[in-house]
Amino acid sequence: MAEATLHIDATLHIDDCVNATCPWSGRPVQSDSLTTYAGRVVGFCNPGCRDKFETAIRHFETAIGAEAEK
Ligand SMILES: [Zn+2]
Repeated sequence: MAEATLHIDATLHIDDCVNATCPWSGRPVQSDSLTTYAGRVVGFCNPGCRDKFETAIRHFETAIGAEAEK
C-alpha cells in the first residue's frame, strides 16, 4: 500500500536512494534527509537541503494547480 503523501520519511531507506551526493552541496546524502521525487527516493546532505527541495516542489505544484483552474 503506497503512501499518497510527500512525507513518508519513516519508510524511506538510504539504500534505495538514487543519488549519492546532495545536489546543493555535493556532500554525501544522509539517512535523515530523504524524500521522494517521481516515485523514487532522493537524498540530501541534511534536512535543510531536503526542505528547500520540497518547498520548490510544492511551489511548482501550487502554480500548476492554479494554472489548471483557469
Ligand atoms: Zn545538502
